[in-house]
Amino acid sequence: MPRIALHPSLDGGFKATDAAFSGGTLVCNCASNPVKVRVNGDIAHNHACGCTKCWKPDSAAFSVIAVAPTDTIEVLQNSDKLAVVDPTALIQRHACKECGVHMYGPVERDHPFKGLSFVHPERFQETGWAKPGFAAFVSSIIESGYDPTGMGDVRARLRELGVEPYDCLNPGLMDYIATWTAKKSGALKQA
Ligand SMILES: [Zn+2]
Ligand SMILES: [Zn+2]
Repeated sequence: MPRIALHPSLDGGFKATDAAFSGGTLVCNCASNPVKVRVNGDIAHNHACGCTKCWKPDSAAFSVIAVAPTDTIEVLQNSDKLAVVDPTALIQRHACKECGVHMYGPVERDHPFKGLSFVHPERFQETGWAKPGFAAFVSSIIESGYDPTGMGDVRARLRELGVEPYDCLNPGLMDYIATWTAKKSGALKQA
């Protein structure tokens, strides 16, 4: 049976994690005049995502995506090549109009993730970023055409790689979102 292609950053094993990683420069796929975006600090919550909205490299079933505070993000060059994929979406994914790579996606509306931007660490020209810690929205790969009968194998392979599969976000982030919502509604007291 052919090996399941999850994502190049997962399939080939992880790059060594450098505990001192403190950001880097994301580069799009254009051979000339690439968009470059600086992340001035570490990323968090790096994970695989199976949703249909996140950018994925060719033939990958999953994206690999993390967050960084939006105020650490700075477009260094060719910002004129960037356009927002879907202005109505929670995540304002800024993609390169030429090669299609999503460079950063800030959350600007009132939401627990407000002030954070989603980035694809595989686009860093530097190595050392944290390995993906879990897989989110795993069932959603079916929406992109993945054979539903293969899902047991996909989840088994993710677990084998140490990437726990979830069909929404992981419990830590789901609790974080619910806590924000409960404080807003008054069900929990504001700290
Ligand atoms: Zn590009
Ligand atoms: Zn996604």
